[in-house]
Amino acid sequence: MVLEFNDVNEFPQLIEDLRTSFAKHLTKPLGYRKKQLEQLYNLLDENQDELCEALYKDLHKSKIQSMLSEIGLVREECLEALNNLDRWASPEYVKTSLMFKINKCHIKKDPVGTVLIIGAWNYPVNVLLLPLVGAIAAGCTAVIKPSELAANTAAVITKLSSQYLDKNAYRIVNGGATETMSLLEYRFDHIFYTGSGAVGKIIMAAAAKHLTPVTLELGGKSPVILANDVDIPITAKRLIWGKTFNNGQTCIAPDYILCTREIQEALIKEMPKAIKDSYGSDPQNSPDYGRIINQRHFDRLSNLLSRTRGKKVIGGNSDRDDLYIEPTVVSDVPKDDSLMQEEIFGPILPIVVVESIDDAIKYINERDTPLALYPFSKNDKTIKYILDNTRSGGTVINDTMLQGSVPALPFGGTGMSGMGAYHGRYTFDTFTHKRSVMSSPLAIEKLLASRYAPHKKSDFKF
Ligand code: NAD
Repeated sequence: MVLEFNDVNEFPQLIEDLRTSFAKHLTKPLGYRKKQLEQLYNLLDENQDELCEALYKDLHKSKIQSMLSEIGLVREECLEALNNLDRWASPEYVKTSLMFKINKCHIKKDPVGTVLIIGAWNYPVNVLLLPLVGAIAAGCTAVIKPSELAANTAAVITKLSSQYLDKNAYRIVNGGATETMSLLEYRFDHIFYTGSGAVGKIIMAAAAKHLTPVTLELGGKSPVILANDVDIPITAKRLIWGKTFNNGQTCIAPDYILCTREIQEALIKEMPKAIKDSYGSDPQNSPDYGRIINQRHFDRLSNLLSRTRGKKVIGGNSDRDDLYIEPTVVSDVPKDDSLMQEEIFGPILPIVVVESIDDAIKYINERDTPLALYPFSKNDKTIKYILDNTRSGGTVINDTMLQGSVPALPFGGTGMSGMGAYHGRYTFDTFTHKRSVMSSPLAIEKLLASRYAPHKKSDFKF
């Protein structure tokens, strides 16, 4: 599939048009925002099959995965925004001290303006359109840049957006690094970027030239800590699910496991069953098992596997022509191994043996703050101890990845895993400026007169 890229010479006019629409208040009325949210809902609802087909072509994503983690999720967020927009957008009246009792103080919710949303390839519907839900709800106009690597999905979204959404307010721009860099030369009022940290730094540097605020939804190595009291069969199933959903190409996928040798051995015995139960004895033939996005990423993963000093105890087979990598577990991985240097982003699960929970915590804290952390234990005190002594963007106790499906939970990283958060109300807030408004009635002039010079000591009591 060859995706048609936009000509960079179109960008100045395109951005100007969106700015003009914003200045003319096109996107501000709540009725307009609701209509566009309904249209986005309809786009997803009426074209499920076409979108699922594109996701299958790009990532071999099964229909159920596409519905759960892409189409259904964004549709739910459209409804969440539609149901709550009146409340989110209404002014918030704040309490004041006695001195300002008569001044009415409130927070006005202003859309930030014209924004740029840049998506990644791994969830090409979700990470592109979910921020757009918030941008529409907040009353912004938007340039939307899908990832060129999920070309089929980008092409379908481009076609459908022009049919369903108002072109005067929301415009899809297709391209790769060159087109994105060109877009970044222009001033936006917010940039919402999802992707790798390396490109995140480029985005932030470009945004700094215009003092544009950024949300960076990045990735990193999200660890799993297993205590010695875990339920092995359930833990094995949940870890294999998290590691193989979308073929491990999920920003919040469990990247690696830290556990004692005893737990490692028990898991190695149990995990083949978890894999077979989901994907049969040959996952390559399973309709539910995904593929690596392209040969570059396939080669990157193969290279990581070929250099590991750990033991490939489960899986290890691959097929470059089919972009297939078998679910693979590598045990006894040294702490400085090739598999421990970068986010794996594929169906390869390293196990690093540690002596204790404290040893695991120390290992995590010596590295970049992860996007997610998954502690497993039957003991609440152990979980609390782990959470109190580590940091991460989000966490799920005794499971993986579910935090991304709850609109009420802010989704985002901290430190090297990103900045800012979204989903549900948090996406609305991202694209909203909270403007302080205070009135000073003329009738209270006498009450406030003591602020004017010349001051007498008796005017103020500190
Ligand atoms: P990608 O290659 O699709 O790049 C992301 C976007 O950046 C694309 O739109 C691309 O066109 C653009 N881009 C690429 N190179 C560029 C450059 N040099 N200059 C300007 N723009 C450029 O995706 P990726 O970076 O491979 O995405 C995978 C990463 O994204 C992983 O680290 C993953 O963890 C992270 N991710 C994070 C989240 C989250 O919500 N936190 C979600 C999905 C993916």
